[in-house]
Amino acid sequence: MKYDYDVIAIGAGSGGLSVVERAAEYGKKCAVVEAKKLGGTCVNIGCVPKKVMWFGAHIAEALRDAPDFGFDIEHKGFTWSKLVAARQNYINNITTWYDGYMKDKGVEVLHGWGSFVDNHTVSVDGKHYTAETIVIAPGGIPLIPNETENGALGLTSDGFFALTEQPKKVAVIGSGYIAVELAGVFQALGTDTTLISRKDLVLRGFDDMIRETLTDAMLESGIKKEYHFAVKKLERVADGTLTIHSTDGQSVGGFNEVVWAVGRETLIEPLALQNVGIEANGYGFIDVDDCHKTVVDNIYAIGDVTGQAQLTPVAIRAGRYLAERLYNNKPNLKLDLSIVPTVIFSHPPVGTIGLAEHDAQRKYGHDNVKVYTSIFTPMRYAFTQHKIKTALKLVVTGADEKVVGIHIVGDGADEMLQGFAVAVQMGATKADLDATIAIHPSSSEELVTMR
Ligand SMILES: Cc1cc2nc3c(=O)[nH]c(=O)nc-3n(C[C@H](O)[C@H](O)[C@H](O)COP(=O)(O)OP(=O)(O)OC[C@H]3O[C@@H](n4cnc5c(N)ncnc54)[C@H](O)[C@@H]3O)c2cc1C
Repeated sequence: MKYDYDVIAIGAGSGGLSVVERAAEYGKKCAVVEAKKLGGTCVNIGCVPKKVMWFGAHIAEALRDAPDFGFDIEHKGFTWSKLVAARQNYINNITTWYDGYMKDKGVEVLHGWGSFVDNHTVSVDGKHYTAETIVIAPGGIPLIPNETENGALGLTSDGFFALTEQPKKVAVIGSGYIAVELAGVFQALGTDTTLISRKDLVLRGFDDMIRETLTDAMLESGIKKEYHFAVKKLERVADGTLTIHSTDGQSVGGFNEVVWAVGRETLIEPLALQNVGIEANGYGFIDVDDCHKTVVDNIYAIGDVTGQAQLTPVAIRAGRYLAERLYNNKPNLKLDLSIVPTVIFSHPPVGTIGLAEHDAQRKYGHDNVKVYTSIFTPMRYAFTQHKIKTALKLVVTGADEKVVGIHIVGDGADEMLQGFAVAVQMGATKADLDATIAIHPSSSEELVTMR
């Protein structure tokens, strides 16, 4: 063999692991380089620990409503450290499992930072390894804006997951999906939470119905808002708490922790891309063609580093399809990112697929788009003191009313969407939804009975 390996992936996250896993199944000799922990962002500091915290928050909400269902309970408190310990134990089991799984597949794990020496050589902490194909899958890291004075006094989502004690009062800066998820968890678990953002509504770019309904629900849950607030400086004051100052002279304070959730940047610096002539584009992403190939013939990039939808299933699909194209004679198997379902684990959760109403109008013309909406209080909250609304929207186009967008905010949205995503992927029309017999009583039945 000319090289040490058929393929080396740099980064053992969702993308890197899936490409070597699939390549190994086709008998290829593979290695994956990992500087931190197997599983990458999703398993260690992303989707998985986030969902565990969301489940905890969900239980807190059930306890809040329990007396309305006749339960006489004495709620003695909540121990953050206990939940975090159980969560980390669960995650350790996953990463240990990955280690064994990679060994079973014959994939070698090279621990350390990987960087390019030349087109076929990767250095891992000074030792050189060669491969016919190299896949770049380094993911990203959370961002603290450079221009903020003392920005590093705040945590990022990584710091959120490292918290072993529950802060009494926090500010979450941002309005994207990670910001609303972390703010929702803090508030539901009993932390006094303020959301700080430049915008009035959360989730810029999503359908307006989702943005408005979720923003209202967050405020009703007790989250405080500081909107139109551009952060200039963080300051630790005499009592040890943090104060946040805005560019226009406003200040809010008394926070035990401040959490930045304003975006992520790619982790490309350690790769020494200059040694292979690959340059990041203006957004810090590595450009790839529709086969995930970079400007260098034998070097590919997958996952968050490409700027494609930054979601675990997208990185996994990219990795698996790459292996199928390279090693299983399926050259035409390409990732279709035109319809990507996604869920936001907010309170209540959001599920969305396809075009927002405004995007559909831009694409098909205002008069060629019709929407069906339904906003209601689901039965779960019919007689509870605390009520959470559900809002649903179908976006359809053309004479046959093809469904090009489904937007759901409300309890169960997270589990509701996957099945409807299949329908949208298959090109369902409104008539197809109408022809489907409803499941009663449920919130999802509204999606097949809208008029
Ligand atoms: C708080 C949070 C919540 C999220 N929730 C969800 C969710 O609910 N659903 C969802 O689908 N997605 C979610 N995501 C996004 C998801 O985690 C990412 O899209 C996904 O992990 C991307 O996979 P990847 O392979 O591109 O990179 P990553 O999973 O980030 O893996 C990259 C790995 O490469 C390693 N690495 C980087 N550079 C080098 C190097 N030079 N040498 C060696 N190793 C290196 C890193 O240590 C890391 O382990 C969330 C992300 C965050 C931050």
